[in-house]
Amino acid sequence: MAKKIYFTPGPAALYPTFEQHLKQALDEQIPSISHRSNHFREIYQDTFENLKHLFDLPNEYAILFTSSATEIWERLLMNCVDSESLHLVNGAFSKKFYEYALDLKKPAIKYDVPFGEGFHKNDIEINYKTDHIAVTHNETSSGVSIPLETIHDLKKGRNNRLVSVDIVSSAPCVSLDFTKIDSAYFSVQKGFGMPAGLGVWLVNEKCLLKAEMIESKGMVTGTYHRLREMWKKFEEFQTPETPNVLGIYLLGKIAGDMLKKGLEKIQKETEEKAAMLYRFFDQHAQFEPFVKNPAFRSKTVIVVNTQVSSGEIIQKLNSKNLVVGSGYQEYKSKQIRIANFPATSLEETECLLKSLKEMV
Ligand SMILES: *Cc1c(COP(=O)(O)O)cnc(C)c1O
Repeated sequence: MAKKIYFTPGPAALYPTFEQHLKQALDEQIPSISHRSNHFREIYQDTFENLKHLFDLPNEYAILFTSSATEIWERLLMNCVDSESLHLVNGAFSKKFYEYALDLKKPAIKYDVPFGEGFHKNDIEINYKTDHIAVTHNETSSGVSIPLETIHDLKKGRNNRLVSVDIVSSAPCVSLDFTKIDSAYFSVQKGFGMPAGLGVWLVNEKCLLKAEMIESKGMVTGTYHRLREMWKKFEEFQTPETPNVLGIYLLGKIAGDMLKKGLEKIQKETEEKAAMLYRFFDQHAQFEPFVKNPAFRSKTVIVVNTQVSSGEIIQKLNSKNLVVGSGYQEYKSKQIRIANFPATSLEETECLLKSLKEMV
């Protein structure tokens, strides 16, 4: 069967070295090892160290594993929100996080802007009560990316305020200053080019102290995956439950490959491919990038308005073994979404654009 190239924004194309590491993992019988063994501890530590270097994490950060990024929303709300969670909502993912706050009956407010738009630093008003701010660096539903200066400014000197950043569809191509935030998280089926089923939570000691404070008030922060329990286990490179050992192993290997290649190089390639994609759609009569403000255009998820039904384009591309995503929810038939993750090469991106040129 001919191999397809997946430009879908998650699950996405597998990272080029994934297959080799998977084979190695099977040779080493990784799926059968005990999660209480020293071997597992070494795997966790290895993955931790590679990710720590990749993201340039300060020492006060732990790296914890969950089942998904969605799970981390719940962990954050239960462990890090006491007086008020402010949600910057500009699409489907940031909205869901806000809705989960309401489900958990946490005091939460949202500041929303229309779909396809981002946030301007000076427009964000923050209440005195706000003790947690949730921001989505890259809204996968709309293709909007928030400039890092805006994110880095959210604490505004108020150190007690926790800032958590969704980097699900921008990691690893995001140069966050982790001293200016408290927590960031992603799942591995997007920019890391792995199968779904593993969430990664980068979280600092301030979040841990917050969870302790919330517990001291008699509030419930969770059971096996409450932050204190996860952190305690992390200190010995263990997890409360039987974790996704294979996923943790493969993530460490892929993060190691990314370090060897160099994050700067990966980011430069991402920028080149993104510039090529936007240039093509800006100039094409039948297409138009959805996000108008260049400062808000995502480099990793490119959302494009189509004149003809996007289903038709998706189908035609599919017959050439090129897979792109449809628009999100009500934009399903009016847009296509193209992931520009590290796993897809410049040549593959050129191939996609050549096919689009020929068909419309
Ligand atoms: C995909 C995605 C999520 C959810 O990830 P899961 O792994 O499905 O939990 C959250 N936020 C953003 C921005 C996403 O793109």
